[in-house]
Amino acid sequence: MSTKQNAQQYKQSYTFYPKQTSLVAGSFLSFDSQNNLRHKMSELHPTAQANTYVTVILPMAVPKPYTYAVPEEWVSKVQVGVRVEVQFGPKRQYAALVLDVLTEAPGHKTKAILSIIDDTPIIWAEQLRFWQWVGQYYCCTLGEVMHAALPANLKLASETTITLSPLFDGDIMDLEDKEYLIAEALTIQHELTLEQVRDILGIKTIYPLIRDMLDKRIIYLKEDLKEKFKAKTVACVRLREPYVSHPENLQDAFDKLSRATRQVEALMAYLQLARGQEFVRRDELYKMAKVDASVISAMEKKEILEVYEREVSRIGGYEDEIVEADALSEQQVRSIAEIQGHFEEKNVVLLQGVTGSGKTRVYIELIREAMKRGEQILYLLPEIALTTQIIDRLKRVFGDQVDVYHSRLNNNERVEIWNRTKEGKALILGARSALFLPFRNLKLVIVDEEHDPSFKQQDPNPRYQGRDAAIYLAQLFGAKVLLGTATPSIESFYNTQVGKYGLVSMTERFGGLELPEVEIVDLKKAQKAGTMQSHFTVDLINAMRGTLEKGEQVILFQNRRGYAPIYKCSTCNWTCECIHCDVSLTYHKGQNNLKCHYCGYQTQLPKECPACGSKQLIVQGFGTEKIEDELKIFMPDAKIGRMDLDTVRSKNAHAKIINDFEEGRLNVLVGTQMVTKGLDFEKVGLVGILSADQLLQFPDFRAGERAFQLMLQVAGRAGRKHKRGKVIIQVQNVANPVIKEVLNNDFRAFYAREIMERQEFFYPPFYRLIRITLKHKKPEVINAAAQKYGNFLRSKLGDRLRGPAVPYVGRVRSYFLIDFLIKLERNPKLIGVTKDLIAEAEHFLLNEEGYSSIKIAVDVDPM
Ligand code: ADP
Ligand code: ZN
Ligand code: ZN
Repeated sequence: MSTKQNAQQYKQSYTFYPKQTSLVAGSFLSFDSQNNLRHKMSELHPTAQANTYVTVILPMAVPKPYTYAVPEEWVSKVQVGVRVEVQFGPKRQYAALVLDVLTEAPGHKTKAILSIIDDTPIIWAEQLRFWQWVGQYYCCTLGEVMHAALPANLKLASETTITLSPLFDGDIMDLEDKEYLIAEALTIQHELTLEQVRDILGIKTIYPLIRDMLDKRIIYLKEDLKEKFKAKTVACVRLREPYVSHPENLQDAFDKLSRATRQVEALMAYLQLARGQEFVRRDELYKMAKVDASVISAMEKKEILEVYEREVSRIGGYEDEIVEADALSEQQVRSIAEIQGHFEEKNVVLLQGVTGSGKTRVYIELIREAMKRGEQILYLLPEIALTTQIIDRLKRVFGDQVDVYHSRLNNNERVEIWNRTKEGKALILGARSALFLPFRNLKLVIVDEEHDPSFKQQDPNPRYQGRDAAIYLAQLFGAKVLLGTATPSIESFYNTQVGKYGLVSMTERFGGLELPEVEIVDLKKAQKAGTMQSHFTVDLINAMRGTLEKGEQVILFQNRRGYAPIYKCSTCNWTCECIHCDVSLTYHKGQNNLKCHYCGYQTQLPKECPACGSKQLIVQGFGTEKIEDELKIFMPDAKIGRMDLDTVRSKNAHAKIINDFEEGRLNVLVGTQMVTKGLDFEKVGLVGILSADQLLQFPDFRAGERAFQLMLQVAGRAGRKHKRGKVIIQVQNVANPVIKEVLNNDFRAFYAREIMERQEFFYPPFYRLIRITLKHKKPEVINAAAQKYGNFLRSKLGDRLRGPAVPYVGRVRSYFLIDFLIKLERNPKLIGVTKDLIAEAEHFLLNEEGYSSIKIAVDVDPM
């Protein structure tokens, strides 16, 4: 597409949030006369002056795009979607993205761009339109969207810090002059900001050079932690000398082994494997020769074979055998046909399949068909569910045709996947940020675990919902969307009921397995009877013992990490709170300290109560750490693992715990909601939920929905590929209707009750919510500002505005918070007007004396 066409295409469709245009009386006249004047001038005197301009997006929260002039020499190279180097403010440079190419001068003075960074656009028209939508829908600036969308390597700025790349394996002497200067400076100084690079080279424009050096992997961004560069290796086996150079000597080797038949077999297997391929993986040899590590190590001792680590690319480069996908079950065949049928008329289909029904196999089939047609596919998952399990399953079938885009990649790898997507990579598996990849022929989007709240970005802007944004993105491409889950969100299910989405159900587990049996245990009764053993009922303890005796595994779910959420004085009731936030500190026994789960603040345990001096300090409540701790007493022989934020912090820890559990090195896994996501364990006989009340009492209109989803999801881990599993739910409030619905695995009953409540109390999906949070470090300032701000909005919105109100946690990281909630009828015009109004209100407040330092966060569709 030509530059001009591009420019045309972009011109009209964009309006910016917040809208900046205003029609001033008389402007029409002045515009007209100016235009005439310019027209005449160009007729008479063609000059060398610039007559091409670009509007660009800067990667930050500035309210609108900026215009720069394009010097003549670059006019032929500038196009929508490339990055240009620009100066912004007195001393700062940025890589900005060209949004539009103009041939008319803006009515004001402009700076010229410093360089054009890219030869070809880094994103397509669809992505720009997507950015635009995200900005408008979620009330943030295009710059913030750009910031979220681009991998860091594509977002250069003055303060960007570079270092020498550990991957650079060339000779620094071979570099070009400027590259050499930078590389040399980096060997001495280790790291440089782009500002310093500019000074060293003494030139004005450096970004094209930096881009080149990043592409060639001479340098990398400092923000890439070292560990993200650790090479991935696989163990391989090869012959030793003299057998490599003199294969005729192999007979000697066979003689040496003659009495060890298994070693002979291994050697024969090795030779056979080595004939067909460059490398022989140790695992392959194990498999083919049916031998284990002891056989190979014996052959190492005899100096015939050696094991070595061979480096492989961390992304792609799949080396295992590709296998045929399993034959489809009847239910899967029917579901696929139904999905395809719905896709004839509808863009979105919800696949509601019980845990273990084999949804993944259905996805695989649809992906395969899309691939055959040469289409691109995006498979979205909540980040934490992006475990090796699902990755392996897809790679086994699709090999190198799949790339995985997630937060554990370094920036080079991100750019690699970015470019491959642009070139048409078939299948991308990723978390929500993968929505921003430069697809060009996206035709199918799968959103797995569509109900999961972690699809929503909470902070910072753009606060987007990955599932909802996926549906918009798909629409841009004319792509179909498949939402999959065992426990649909109320919104998605509602859309099937009003005919907007298709609905396909899979009610049977694969292989005819039964769904687990659920038992509710009344905590109140047990407490009254005095039969509790700490936080365990006799029923749970007995069931656990029975399960372990049968050689099966147990999962225990407690949605709180740490040892105990409250540390208090039993004499005067003083509780230990965070100094920055209005929450009590959680006691962590392993580290013997108190921690804030909101800001990370840590402190030592007080020796005595600071209020009354008493030494009777006690803990209250319980988290995963305490459960793990006490289990060790009740079940001294069980091997217990724990999976929560505290134990998966280090790289690969998450994968290791899952692996240990999968391979039976752990009998019991205690965890937070991490254990509910995307795991397929084969020997789990029992799942225990220690306190369902905690889930039900959450102060949010979605508490019931979340509780229902969490309980059914964690229950779904029981009895897979095995036999009927069991679930025990401990709860005080047995009468809560959600408990009964979980007991009966009755989504319909749950939905019917919940949807009525939503309607009655003006909640989604009937009403749209926008939450606005004001933050400031001084309570008196925030209170007064909230009044003013609230009055401004209320004068226009009336009762649709709720608040001001102090949220559940009223102070976080030393900022005092005030919330407003806007409830809107689902009327697009009203919603549009309200968003404009919110922008106006912000403008109004920040321009009031004394309030310019208030922070305002707008959250559309808060979760
Ligand atoms: P879901 O995602 O719906 O919870 P999975 O896709 O994880 O279910 O499938 C559950 C189990 O059934 C997995 O172990 C999977 O390998 C197995 N399975 C599903 N479909 C088939 C099939 N057609 N052939 C063989 N095994 C299958
Ligand atoms: Zn006290
Ligand atoms: Zn805190």
